[in-house]
Amino acid sequence: MSVDELIAQRDRARQDYEALVAKGLKLDLTRGKPSPRQLDLADGMLAAVDRAVSADGVDLRNYGGLEGLPELRAIFTEALQVPVGQLLAAGNSSLELMHDAIVFALLGVLPGAERRWADEPEITFLCPVPGYDRHFAICERYGIKMVAVPMTPDGPDMDVVEQLVAADPQVKGIWCVPKYSNPDGTVYSDDTVRRLAAMETAAPDFRIFWDNAYAVHHLTDQPAEIADVLALCAEHGHADRAFVFGSSSKITYAGCGVAFFGSSPANIEWWVSHTSKRSIGPDKINQLRHVRFLGDADGLRQHMRNLADLIRPKFDAVDKILTAELGGTGLATWTAPAGGYFITLEVPEGCAREVVAKAKAAGIALTPAGASHPYGDDPADRTIRLAPTYPDLAEVEAAITGVATVVRLVAAEKALS
Ligand code: PLP
Repeated sequence: MSVDELIAQRDRARQDYEALVAKGLKLDLTRGKPSPRQLDLADGMLAAVDRAVSADGVDLRNYGGLEGLPELRAIFTEALQVPVGQLLAAGNSSLELMHDAIVFALLGVLPGAERRWADEPEITFLCPVPGYDRHFAICERYGIKMVAVPMTPDGPDMDVVEQLVAADPQVKGIWCVPKYSNPDGTVYSDDTVRRLAAMETAAPDFRIFWDNAYAVHHLTDQPAEIADVLALCAEHGHADRAFVFGSSSKITYAGCGVAFFGSSPANIEWWVSHTSKRSIGPDKINQLRHVRFLGDADGLRQHMRNLADLIRPKFDAVDKILTAELGGTGLATWTAPAGGYFITLEVPEGCAREVVAKAKAAGIALTPAGASHPYGDDPADRTIRLAPTYPDLAEVEAAITGVATVVRLVAAEKALS
């Protein structure tokens, strides 16, 4: 494009931006929260329990049952690819379980470990980027060094991962969101999962933090299937390598769902040795509510289809508007995920922070630029996470149209700077 054309484009974008600011919008695309209408679909839970007795006759009002209700674990065993006997149902937050897994590994000796992580000179975690900011926040809180690993369409770049884990015994873990990843929607290929399970690690106590938060959150009629990480780890002689996490936060109620932890028998024993000191048992009545409401694995599948009917139009709208406004301009690329909660928007290098700032000034709140990278630092300053589930459809449309205007303006200004 000639300089004159660029100037004309920038001036047009400026006018559009001024018109956008004048609208006085107040829109929020920051966090991946279920919308009130999604939550309404789970309201059957509120009246689902009139008698607090489990299938095997246990009085659920009392203490006990640390491993969680067997009938609820049975509903989620297939989705999370963990045998019922190795799957625990806990409180309402899987993030809490991931946090606790790190703290337990810092303060107690993991199966296969030579010492507590707190006694190591340094601990490093691999962080596929873009990734989930709250994973990175846990590492930062506990002084765990983070090393970014690029994502590919098949998951983390396994050549890089294999090299890093083989070279350094201080590399103790990797964060993985294997299905409909937060934020780029990536589904790990079978080969990626196999390589993660099979790779040789210098650390004997290396752990994969397998955060399968979006295991059943499909947006198409062809649910993505991923390889069974626990089975593959066992097959390759690394039975204790994977910690599997999941929850019903984005299935039933985000604030009072049920979280799950699954792993090898040795890891489960280790886990319970810690959690049994921390609690006498989870909220089993909430777990029973989930059993009554979902019924079985088919009930879970049907509920997810109902949720997808609410979410899909929003994802479609984002794609349609970005295509209409930015398609073919070379100013942006974006993901069109087949599930999960997020879309990743890539803008020209050096523009993401400015896009987020200018969007904010126009009343459109976006996740801070850099949040998808360790230490909040996206070296290319390109990646923006869009979270379209919470606002209603008209708000999503208005917000994305506004974002496209901002991208055109910032990119033109950058090109002329
Ligand atoms: N893991 C990922 C990848 C997420 O995106 C989220 C929420 O956005 C969570 C975990 C939070 O899960 P929970 O509500 O079970 O703590």
